[in-house]
Order: sequence, then structure tokens, then C-alpha cells
Amino acid sequence: MPETIFSRIIRKEIPAKIIYEDNLSIAFHDVSPQAPVHVLVIPKRQIDSLDDAEETDASLLGHLQIVAQKVARMLNLNETGYRVVMNCGKDGGQSVGHIHYHVLGGRPLSWPPG
Ligand code: 5GP
Repeated sequence: MPETIFSRIIRKEIPAKIIYEDNLSIAFHDVSPQAPVHVLVIPKRQIDSLDDAEETDASLLGHLQIVAQKVARMLNLNETGYRVVMNCGKDGGQSVGHIHYHVLGGRPLSWPPG
């Protein structure tokens, strides 16, 4: 599948406010934050969406969730709580075809989402 803007962020070809990186993943602040804290956690290996993930991707997806937890703790979101969201496909609101978790916090978040 064609690469996205996130591949260019991974290669550091375009700037992003990166707050965490390891050999499998990278986390950076969303350019259009929907909450006081809005961070994206993405794998360095492109999977287009959750619908494209395979059983063999399970450990990578689990790793991304642990990175989301690390990011939340780094930004003190764990004290008041936070939300980890993955949008999938058109109706799910996914706009970038490189799988990612949103980590949102810093204010009470309503439910259900719109
Ligand atoms: P989605 O809509 O696919 O669930 O989430 C994609 C997210 O990527 C959006 O929240 C959008 O603001 C963010 N985004 C899109 N392009 C860029 C970019 O170039 N830099 C950063 N930091 N975030 C981006």
C-alpha cells in the first residue's frame, strides 16, 4: 500500500514533536490536537488499518498499547485518566492509512463519541 505522511515522520523527513521512540514504534504529538494532550502511537512497519492486521501482528499491536501507557505516564495522564482510540476505515473516521493509536487526555472526554 502507498506510504503516508507518517512514513516521512518515521524517517525524520518532516518535523514532528516526537516524545517516544523504540525499534518498533514512535509516538508524537498530533498536529491538530483534539484534547490538551493528543499523541499518536504508530508502528514503524506500516499496517494500513486494523482491518489489515494479521494474527502475527498481535504482539506489535500489544506493544503499541504499552507504548500508549508509557506516553500517558510520561505526560501524567495516568493521574486523571485518558483514552486510547484507534479509528478504522471511513466510518471509523480514519484519515491516515498507517495504523495508529490516539492517546487523548487532559480534560474529561465525553462518551459515546460522535
Ligand atoms: P485518523 O483520522 O486517521 O484516526 O488520525 C490521523 C491523525 O493524524 C489526525 O488526528 C491528524 O490530525 C494527524 N495528522 C495528520 N497529518 C499529520 C502530520 O503531518 N503530523 C502530525 N503530527 N499529525 C498528523
